[in-house]
Amino acid sequence: MTSYTQSIQSLMEQLSRLPGIGTRSAERIAFHLLKQSPAEAMKLADAIRDVKTRIRHCSVCYNLTEDDPCSICVNPARDQTLVCVVEQPKDLLALESTGLYNGVYHVLLGRIAPLEESHPQDLTIDALGQRIKTGTIREVIMGTNPTVDGDGTALYIQNLIAAQFPDVKVTRLARGLPAGSSIEFANRNILSDAISGRQKM
Ligand SMILES: [Zn+2]
Repeated sequence: MTSYTQSIQSLMEQLSRLPGIGTRSAERIAFHLLKQSPAEAMKLADAIRDVKTRIRHCSVCYNLTEDDPCSICVNPARDQTLVCVVEQPKDLLALESTGLYNGVYHVLLGRIAPLEESHPQDLTIDALGQRIKTGTIREVIMGTNPTVDGDGTALYIQNLIAAQFPDVKVTRLARGLPAGSSIEFANRNILSDAISGRQKM
């Protein structure tokens, strides 16, 4: 059996590491790229280089951004006393797309999931505590996904805030979000309902 050259082999290997890309797909993409003009194929390489060099996490809310702090954190029109805690930047984007939320965010970059070896110290919970400590935040809205892990994460953070900052109100997105679903897949109406119908935890 003949094998591909080292560089094609290595390209296929990298492609097959991507989520949802099996060996067959990796092979198909690799040969597609080989057929393309160098300029065309390099656009993919440039796009990857760009996101990895220009995009970083906001040092305040951990959203993905090219400027630090991000445009939401520095926007004087946003209510800095209201913080919505979400698992991932994509959840923040979904809530932003409603255009109905005027507070700021805190992105956890994950959720507490002991079975997946994801623990509180792996998330940005410490940084959230530091933000609350400055005294400007009066309400924290838990916007974690309505799943077992998402609910567990919300409860963990709620207990932490109740113990350390009893004056800060903790609410959570509730009505409208079906249990077991993901915020990123919810439509605008469901999310707007969830924001306006948030409840005290
Ligand atoms: Zn930010």
